[in-house]
Formats: sequence, C-alpha cells, structure tokens
Amino acid sequence: MNASYDVWKKVMELLEPQLTATTVTTWFDDTVPVDLTDTTFVLYTPSDYKREIISRRYTPLLKDALHELFSADFEVQLLNDAELQQYNAGNPADAAMVVKEEYTFENFIVGSSNKFAHAAARSVADHPAQSYNPLFIYGESGLGKTHLLHAIAHTVRNNHPDYKIVYVKGDDFTNELVRSIREGTNAEFRDKYRQADLLLVDDIQFIAGKIQTQEEFFHTFNSLYEETRQIVLTSDRPPKEMTRLEDRLKTRFEWGLLADVQPPDYETRLAIIKTKAIRLGMDLPDAVLEYIAENVTANVRQIEGTVNKILAFRDLMDDSINVNTVSRAVKDMFKDQSDLLPSAALIIEEVSKFYGLEGTELRGQQRNRTTVLARQIAMYLIRRMTNLSLSDIGKEFNGRDHTTAMHSISRIEEMLKKDSQISEVVKDITANINAHNY
Ligand code: ADP
Ligand code: MG
Repeated sequence: MNASYDVWKKVMELLEPQLTATTVTTWFDDTVPVDLTDTTFVLYTPSDYKREIISRRYTPLLKDALHELFSADFEVQLLNDAELQQYNAGNPADAAMVVKEEYTFENFIVGSSNKFAHAAARSVADHPAQSYNPLFIYGESGLGKTHLLHAIAHTVRNNHPDYKIVYVKGDDFTNELVRSIREGTNAEFRDKYRQADLLLVDDIQFIAGKIQTQEEFFHTFNSLYEETRQIVLTSDRPPKEMTRLEDRLKTRFEWGLLADVQPPDYETRLAIIKTKAIRLGMDLPDAVLEYIAENVTANVRQIEGTVNKILAFRDLMDDSINVNTVSRAVKDMFKDQSDLLPSAALIIEEVSKFYGLEGTELRGQQRNRTTVLARQIAMYLIRRMTNLSLSDIGKEFNGRDHTTAMHSISRIEEMLKKDSQISEVVKDITANINAHNY
C-alpha cells in the first residue's frame, strides 16, 4: 500500500465534517496524493485554478488534519503536471503511481457499451501477465479508459503489494525520455520502465510519429514482454488506425487483446447518473434522471459534469430539484460550448456524402434501405454531436416528429452494439465532421 494514499484518505475523513460534498467534488476530485516525506505531504492537482484555491483556502485545514494524525507539523506541497514529472524523475525508485481513489472496478458501471473492455480489464487485473498481454483498450474520450486502467492498478496493488506498478501518459513518457537524455539519466529512465511488473500507458497514441520515443518504447515493450510482465495500453483509436505509429509497434499492440469502449446507451447512462447522484447524496426524481439520460449523451465525463453541476446548483440556489431547474442547469452547461458544435446541416451533408446521396434525399421521404439507414445515422449523430432536442431533430428531416427521431436513434444505438461495420462507419463520418472548423 502506498502510504501517502492512506494518509490522504484519512485526511479527507477527518475533514469530512467541515467540507460539503460539493466542496470535495469541486476542488478535490482530481487531487492525488503523491508522497509523504518527513516534513511534507505532496499532492498533485492538474488544474491551475484548483491548485490556487486549494492552497489559499484549504491548506490550513489540510495541515490541521495532518497535525491531528501525526502530532507533528507538515508542509503541504501542491504539484502541477510539470512539477509532478520532475518529482517522479527525482524519485525514480518510488515514482508515484498516481491512482485515483474512486477509479475502481466497484465504481465502474458496466453496460453493453463497455462490457467487453471491463471483462478484459478484470481478467488482466486478476491474472497479470497470464491472460492477455498487452491489453489494448481504445475508444473516444470520456468513456472510461483511464478509469479501467486505474482499476487494474488498484486490484494489482491490493493482490500484489510487492509489484512495481508504473503508470505513465503517452506524452509524459516522451517528455521524461527527452529530459533523461538531456540530463544524462537515461539509465535510470530505462530501469524505471523495464523493471515494472505492471506497466500502464494511458493515451499511447501520443507516441506515434515520435521516432526516438517509439524506439525507446519498442525496447521497453520487448523487455517487459519477454519477462512476462503485464502491459496495458489505452488509446483513442485502435492500432491499425494509428497511421503514424511504426509497424513493429502496431503489430505488438495487437499481440494480446484489443478491447473497445463505446458511448453508453440509454440504460447505461441512466444507471451511471443514478449511481453518481446517490454517491453525491442526491435523491433525484425519476423524471430528472431520465431527462439527463436523454439529453447528455456523448460520454460519461459529460454526464459526471452535469451531475456535479446540478449538485452545485442545488447548493447555491437552495432550489428544489425538478425538471425545470435541471434543464436550466444542463442548457447552461452547454451554452459555452454551443459555438463549438457542428450544425445539423453539416452532419447531414457529411452523412449524405458518405453514402453518395443528396442532402435533400436524406431529409426527404425515400424509403430504400441505404437512405433509411443514412437518415437514421444522421439523426443519431445530430443527437450525439449537437444540443438539439429530439423534436428539433425531427424538424430537420422535413418536419418528422420527435418519436421518429427517437426510434431512429435507438435503432442505431442497438446496431452499434452488434455491428462493428456500422460503428466503423459512424466513426469515419464523425471524423469527417470533426475535420471541419465549425
Ligand atoms: P477516458 O480515459 O476514456 O477519456 P475516463 O476514464 O477519464 O475516460 O472517464 C471519464 C469520467 O467518467 C471519469 O470520471 C470516470 O470515472 C467516469 N466513467 C467513465 N466510464 C464510467 C463507467 N462505466 N462507470 C462509472 N464512471 C465512469
Ligand atoms: Mg483517459
């Protein structure tokens, strides 16, 4: 067990009576304990803003809690990304495995969209280096890849306290490598990675196209693989779509098991919202849960953001939670982003182009199979990529009503579960849409 991690848990328990749930989620949700030295409790928080607030408002409380625990005075040091890397580089022997406490298997909601990746991650966590090596988890942003990676680390840490677990993000691997070369500490760098029992690389796509990093990672991979050490990688796309990745790495990444995570379907979204709300101590009416599940569809990160926002909303306004207040909160949340969303017209244009159809055909009444499928995909993508309501979507298609839009969308959601060809198509069209500057 990591001592700083236990201490952080105790500190948060001690502070519980003084901090509201909102305070904790707002300021501390991505704070991670890094180290406890004789004099200093070292924490990491990625956001500059949160670091500023924590150090101004909460450091005294943290110090008090530490004093209560140890009857001694401790400094509290808050690291940013660069400082964390430097810190880890200076302490390669016990480089902090930054495990997020709440990213456990217990807290991971399983649905059809992530069932496979979850089962694969479980299997690797229970039998490191004996089931799939490497395990390669891929999928779009916000769908739980990092969560699963940390869950594996939690489990392995509990079952094998002696294992050396090394976690790194793809881009940090590069930065660390570059620094080690500059500072002549390349041997330490190699040791750190090649002595791992479990190597977790998050967002490995970042090493693609970087010659030196790929070379180094190739040797790290081989060395670990030959010694039967477990490797787990995540990426925003499968190896074969990592066009700038060296072939020898592509092949290796496919040696074990590829597991994808898909956007959650309605039932899973509902389950996630329910669980998150309960964890935050909110008892939301069914209508509200359903409203969120229907409207916040892109990914789990967005769902979490919405639930947190509603919590803050409730605390601020002292308002009763009903569909009206919630829809206001949800709309508010999207307001800033709405300029950054593609238009329905652009989506229809891209789907039409993909299928060699005219936009008017897609919007119109034609009932041949391809046009119907293309139309349904367009509705599905509009739902996922814009803030349009179901009835707005219906209107885009020559005044169809919201039930048509709803049926079309759930039909595609169903197909995506079973038909990998459709998910490829949806991904390709999404990429084409995202290639525009909207
Ligand atoms: P990714 O790495 O794929 O971009 P993350 O793992 O960072 O996504 O997930 C984003 C947020 O959503 C995290 O806070 C994570 O805990 C949460 N999350 C994702 N999938 C699930 C799930 N199936 N159940 C519970 N929480 C989830
Ligand atoms: Mg991630």
